[in-house]
Order: sequence, then structure tokens, then C-alpha cells
Amino acid sequence: MIITIDGPAGTGKSTVAKLLAQKLHFSYFDTGAMYRSCTYALIENQIDIDDKDKVLDFLTNHFQYEIKEKNLEKYYFVNSEDVTDIIRSSYVTDLVSIVSAKEYVRKTLVPIQRKFAEDRDIICEGRDMGTVVFPNAAIKIYLTAKISVRAERRFKDFIAKNPQDIATLDKNIILKDIQKRDELDSTRKVSPLRKAKGAYHIDTSNLTIDGVVKKIIKRIKKLKKIKFAYRLVRAVSSFVLKTFYRFKVYGKENIIKGAAIVTSNHVSFFDPSAITVAIDEELHFLARDSLFKIPIFKYIIKALNTHPISGKEANIQTIKEVKSILKTGKKIVIFPEGTRSTDGTINKLLPGVGFLISLSKCTTIPVYIYGAHEVWPRGKKFPKLFGKIACIFGKPIRYEQFENINRNERIPQIINKIENELKNLEKWANNGFKGAQP
Ligand code: C5P
Repeated sequence: MIITIDGPAGTGKSTVAKLLAQKLHFSYFDTGAMYRSCTYALIENQIDIDDKDKVLDFLTNHFQYEIKEKNLEKYYFVNSEDVTDIIRSSYVTDLVSIVSAKEYVRKTLVPIQRKFAEDRDIICEGRDMGTVVFPNAAIKIYLTAKISVRAERRFKDFIAKNPQDIATLDKNIILKDIQKRDELDSTRKVSPLRKAKGAYHIDTSNLTIDGVVKKIIKRIKKLKKIKFAYRLVRAVSSFVLKTFYRFKVYGKENIIKGAAIVTSNHVSFFDPSAITVAIDEELHFLARDSLFKIPIFKYIIKALNTHPISGKEANIQTIKEVKSILKTGKKIVIFPEGTRSTDGTINKLLPGVGFLISLSKCTTIPVYIYGAHEVWPRGKKFPKLFGKIACIFGKPIRYEQFENINRNERIPQIINKIENELKNLEKWANNGFKGAQP
């Protein structure tokens, strides 16, 4: 799960991120330190920051960035040199906002930031974490504070580290520096400092670090609370599936944390319940609007956060809905065949799911539902009383592998990939779950 914290300098981002990470047992990533390290390296190697080719060559071929941890403190290394202290010096601070405003610098560093956060419980802190780098983060925080408070904090930080400078350090200069950096960071063309849509805004002017962390934890708990109707349907489903159908889940380690689109084969009315029991978080589903007319079933699917889609294609309304669900870090389950298979085999997938994945740039988790067709096939009014049902989760399909494919080919390739993965899982299950799971 990714939590983003953005905001201007001196709002307490780093200290809050560090304490929050300790409390939640997450790691944390100070992306400001990365931009500072990059700025330091460019200065040291006398690279003209306006020379795009030289900067790109340096960052891609000669810039090795490492983060090490000792006693809960982070240490930053550039090409094996410990730069932890030097990147906070005024000559780096003076230039960092100019370097970080370069589109070619961000283009190189952002993929590294995304890779670093992949599949982790992590708090990412910076200026564009919630808006650009992790738009699908589960929780987004935006911190602000009055400029005078921020300058005072920076002053105290500096004096704590350099008590000998107390007589010469001018608070007004610190305030002006912060103001200048705010201006540069929030008015630049690429990834300007902004509050991300849906981010939780906290003004930290009159709060202690503990106070801010408490507020964030309260917010996380509220967002994670599973609603009663969902819990009830899940408990009943779990009882029925485990008592009568020896329900089992395979490949649980493939259920990545946070936002994802779960794509499942569809054979039975049992499918949504099976996935609900298999994934230990509150899910959302997409389903044909006609299903909302079936008595009793309509109440169950409503309790399971099912969103109706009209027709077989993903329309603008659906796309908007899917995007806003993913933005809150939730998973959405889609049955890309559009309807239940009549013979239990996997039918051709509709292109809609490819559009949704392409537009949301989201990771997909394929899941094959085994045995539900034998227990309760399409056309039968009631299920058999005994049998075996299982959910098999395949390896997550990252969107990045389709990113550079042109749009016309991208959708069919996404669809093909999901279909193949589902068929591999089907084969493995039908072979008696033997050998390594695909
Ligand atoms: O957080 P910190 O003050 O150390 O960040 C230093 C500078 O790095 C910021 O003023 C900003 O110019 C840049 N930065 C950025 N995007 C981030 C993090 C920092 O542009 N995600």
C-alpha cells in the first residue's frame, strides 16, 4: 500500500513520514533527498543543467543512487559516496528547485521512484507524489503550514545541528529562501506542487508531529473500515463455501496491496462471493445492469459494492467510476467475458477491460475460479449441495509492459495477455493443482 505525503518545504513532511512509517511498519521514501542528491551530483560533475543531452547521459549512465538504513535513519549514497549531509547544504538547496523543474530530470527519476515503491507498504514524500507519481495511492495527504511557522521550524532544525551559527543565522533569510522555493515548485510547468484530488489536507501550523500522525492514522482507519453489509455477505459466503464446497485459495501472494483490477473468468453466481472471501479487503465489482433486476441477488451485489454497467462496452461513466475507485487504493473486480460461460470454459474477452486498464494504467490480477460451474452452472435454479470451489490468483500483470505499445495494438495485447494467463491457470487447476503454479 502506498501513502503519499506532499506539501511545501517545512511543513513537517519528512518527520511525519518517518514517524508514521515506524508506527505502521512501512518503509518511507524522501524523494526530495533524491532530487537533492541528483543536484549535488550534477554540480560535482560540473554538468550544465540546461544541457539536456549531457544531463540525460549522466543520469542514465553515471548516476547510481542508493538508500541505506541504520538505526531507523536513512543514509543517501551517490556512486558510493555518502551524501546524506552535503545534500542539505545551502548550495544544493539553492539549485535543487531549478534542477527538479527540468522535464528531462523528472522523466529519469520518476520511473526509479515508482520501481522503488513497487509492491511495498511505503510512505512516499515529496511534491508530486499524489498528483503524478502515484495517482492510484491508497491514501494521499497534503500538508501545509503558515510560512512564519515553517521558517521557525527550519531555523530550529538548523541550530540544533549547527549551534555555533546561532549568532549569524538570519530567520528572515530562511523565510525568503522558503518563499522562493515555494514559488518555483508551485509555478513550474512539469509536476507543480499541488494538492492531489481527494488528498486529506492538514494545516500543521498549530499541531505537533504526534498530532499530525494521529490525524493521519485516524483517517487510515476510517478508510479501511469495511461496511457492515459487505462483512455480512462475506461471512455468509465464507461459511457456505468452506462448509459445502471445500473452498481453497491458491496464489494468495499474487494479491498485491492497494489498487488493482482483478480480472476473473465467469461461470456461476458463486463467482463474486468466492472472490470476496479470497481477498481480505473491501472490493468493488462491475456487473451488467440487468443483474440488478434479479430478486435477492440484487441486494447481495449491492452489498458487495457492485457498480452497474450498461451494454458490453466501458462507457465514459464507467471509466470515471473505475478511476475514482482505484484512486482510493481499492481493487475492482471485472468479469471480462461480459457474462457467465455456458459450458464452464473461458470465452473470448471483451475489449472493455483492455480500455479500462489502458486508461487507468493499473496493475491487473488474473484469477481463475475453479469448480463453480460444476456446482452451480448457468441455467440451473439451485446449486448442488457439495463440490469443490477454488480461486487461483495468477501473477500480477503490470501496466508498464504495455506502456510503449501504440494504442491500437495495446488493447488487444492486454486482452490476449489476460486471456492467456486465465487459460494457464485453468490448465493448472484441471491438471489437479500439480507442480508449480503459473
Ligand atoms: O523535500 P525537500 O525540501 O528536501 O525537496 C527539495 C526540492 O526537491 C524541492 O524544493 C523540490 O524542488 C524538489 N522536489 C520535487 N519533487 C519531489 C520532491 C522534491 O520537485 N517529489
